[in-house]
Amino acid sequence: MDYVFNCRDCGTVQIWTAKQQKWWYEIMQGNINSVAVRCRSCRKTEQQRKKQARDIHLSGLAEKHKQ
Ligand SMILES: [Zn+2]
Repeated sequence: MDYVFNCRDCGTVQIWTAKQQKWWYEIMQGNINSVAVRCRSCRKTEQQRKKQARDIHLSGLAEKHKQ
C-alpha cells in the first residue's frame, strides 16, 4: 500500500509507493522498521551532511595519528 508522509525536513507531502517499499525491503534488505521520512532532495542533503561529518571525523583522526 502506498505510504503518504510529510518530509521531516521540508514538510512537503511525499508518497512512498508500494513499489518503492518492495524495492527497499526486498532488494535493499532495508530494515523492516524503517520507513521513508524525507523527500528525495532532503535525503540528498542529509547524505551530503553525513558524508561531510564523516570526512571531518576521518581527517580529525588522521591529525591525531600524526602527533
Ligand atoms: Zn524534504
